[in-house]
Amino acid sequence: MQTNFTAEQLADPYVAESEKILRRCVHCGFCTATCPTYVTLGNELDSPRGRIYLIKDMLENDRPADAEVVTHIDRCLSCLACMTTCPSGVDYMHLVDHARIHIEKTYRRPLMDRMIRQMLAVILPYPSRFRPALALARLGRPFAPLLRGVKPLRPVAAMLELAPQGRLKHSDSAHPGIRAPEVARRGRVAILTGCAQPVLDGGINEAAIRLLTRLGVEVVVPEGEGCCGALVHHMGKEDPALDFARRNVDVWTREIERGGLDAIIITASGCGTTIKDYGHMLRLDPAYAEKAARVSALAKDVTEYIATLELPAQDSKGMTVAYHSACSMQHGQKITQLPKALLAKAGFKVRDPAEGHLCCGSAGTYNIMQPEISAQLKARKVRNIEATQPDVIATGNIGCMTQIGSGTALPILHTVELLDWAYGGPKPAKLA
Ligand code: SF4
Ligand code: SF4
Repeated sequence: MQTNFTAEQLADPYVAESEKILRRCVHCGFCTATCPTYVTLGNELDSPRGRIYLIKDMLENDRPADAEVVTHIDRCLSCLACMTTCPSGVDYMHLVDHARIHIEKTYRRPLMDRMIRQMLAVILPYPSRFRPALALARLGRPFAPLLRGVKPLRPVAAMLELAPQGRLKHSDSAHPGIRAPEVARRGRVAILTGCAQPVLDGGINEAAIRLLTRLGVEVVVPEGEGCCGALVHHMGKEDPALDFARRNVDVWTREIERGGLDAIIITASGCGTTIKDYGHMLRLDPAYAEKAARVSALAKDVTEYIATLELPAQDSKGMTVAYHSACSMQHGQKITQLPKALLAKAGFKVRDPAEGHLCCGSAGTYNIMQPEISAQLKARKVRNIEATQPDVIATGNIGCMTQIGSGTALPILHTVELLDWAYGGPKPAKLA
């Protein structure tokens, strides 16, 4: 694609990067076929190619974002299916990141939109705030149908409806400290506790820690770890996103210097995609660029690390698992076969639902901010999963677990919970 940026514009490293990305796009439109919003809405402006044109026009003309650009960029899930499909290697992820930062700086959203986004940004990344907020959301749930009738309040209704019912399981897995290996030590890793996951389902990291320590891996939960920054990053709030990244880089760098780390284990693929991008996010910060690149190189999805431990094949469990590959796993991190291979080796019969490349509609806070599109994608995903007639659904991302779990009666577990069970851990309570 031909571009017309001035030398002055290209002096801005963000613009210079976006220009390089734009020039790779050859308008072929292959990406439209796998874009969930184009497939759902059928509007070219809700396709990757359409969004690329909108972003190009906005950046090239140095224009503040307008309502049309914001509408179509907000509808993008950042699922990155377009990057998997694109034959020209267009780095849509960093282009849309730049567009979101530009929107955040130049566009004044309607009051309710601003308030909801700000509320999400100051609550979700902090477990001590998210936990009581969830309790309140459960109390407010009966009002959700009422709020759904008022358009600007639909995100609030979606929030109330997504709040898990019943008591959330308390877990010690997020407490800082060292979990010693149960057999001779063969590795040392740090594990990300994160923000929303330990509140919604502390059992995931519990299972990961149990499995790893049983296999001889020392697991460190470092003091001071926090949100990876993805939630605010996807809202275009660059400064807080970089602050979260720097904080985690500091924590893990201390741990690398203290005892060495073979990997930084992540059990939520949405966070994994962001942490693997820290090197890029902090590339312009001389104090952090090198440290962040080192952290990104050590970041591993839990299944990537477990695969290096070469677990033995197990007898059949007589259980069929529908594997849902999170977008951040398959498109963001390009991990496609590994989790399924581990589950099959562990004795599960694994099924691939149709249209596996399409997002379930979770996408961070998307299911709150874009509830209508998200609901359509969820229904489509659940239909495809249930058609495989599984006993259980497995996936590697808490966002997908919450989203899909709210649309089906089938139990949904993290891949590592099934692996932990297959290799000597307790049977997951959801399968009881
Ligand atoms: S990231 Fe996903 S929703 Fe956004 S343009 Fe690409 S395929 Fe479409
Ligand atoms: S597939 Fe790639 S090159 Fe083709 S229109 Fe989409 S982004 Fe551009």
